[in-house]
Amino acid sequence: MSKGLLIVVSAPSGCGKGTLLEEAAKQTDFYYSVSATTRAPREGEKDGVNYHFLTRERFMEIADGGGMLEYAEYCGNLYGTPKKAVDDMLASGRDVLLEIEVQGALKVMEKCPEAVFIFILPPSLETLRERLEKRGTESAEVIAERVSQAEREIKEAYKYGYAVVNDELDKAVGDFLAIIRGEKLAVKRNGEAIDRVMGG
Ligand code: ADP
Ligand code: 5GP
Repeated sequence: MSKGLLIVVSAPSGCGKGTLLEEAAKQTDFYYSVSATTRAPREGEKDGVNYHFLTRERFMEIADGGGMLEYAEYCGNLYGTPKKAVDDMLASGRDVLLEIEVQGALKVMEKCPEAVFIFILPPSLETLRERLEKRGTESAEVIAERVSQAEREIKEAYKYGYAVVNDELDKAVGDFLAIIRGEKLAVKRNGEAIDRVMGG
């Protein structure tokens, strides 16, 4: 059986990554990797569903034992991708989606260069600020911080394989799905199909 596709998505907070991926998940099947984190659960978040909520000691024990595909410190908390679930899903042929920040994605680029790296962009920094204001979950001060953090993160977008601008949602979802569809057709992932036709 051929291995699943590893899809890595990054986007600054407020770019609409949650909205976009929720829509995309209705139209294609992938395993959404549940990350580990040392940050406290937000209201409504469930352990094992949104994140595996761990103490810093337990997190580092797992990371030091080689149990994380990648991990990074972000805004004072550790976030990491548990390796085993990802490996098992890929081996079973299922596509896996990692929604991780830039530093972690750069580590995955070194370890898994065959993965697909997608950066989601807002139409402009001004639109990003307006969306954060409209969402209304952060104070004006935090919104200003998020926008300057976004500016720093977007500089790293040049290192990704694809950029999707989340302007009109349906188009952005279509673009995201088109990337996955295109990647699945790459010759490097279709050696077996070619061999079959050739009677191999
Ligand atoms: P993230 O997960 O990247 O932090 P969200 O999915 O929470 O971002 O989106 C941030 C805000 O922008 C939300 O209020 C959401 O409804 C809105 N939003 C997302 N995508 C679009 C879009 N294409 N056009 C307009 N508003 C959008
Ligand atoms: P939040 O605290 O808002 O849920 O997430 C903060 C940031 O951490 C987001 O950019 C999110 O994509 C990122 N993140 C979530 N899980 C992981 C992970 O496993 N590894 C890394 N490197 N970043 C993660």
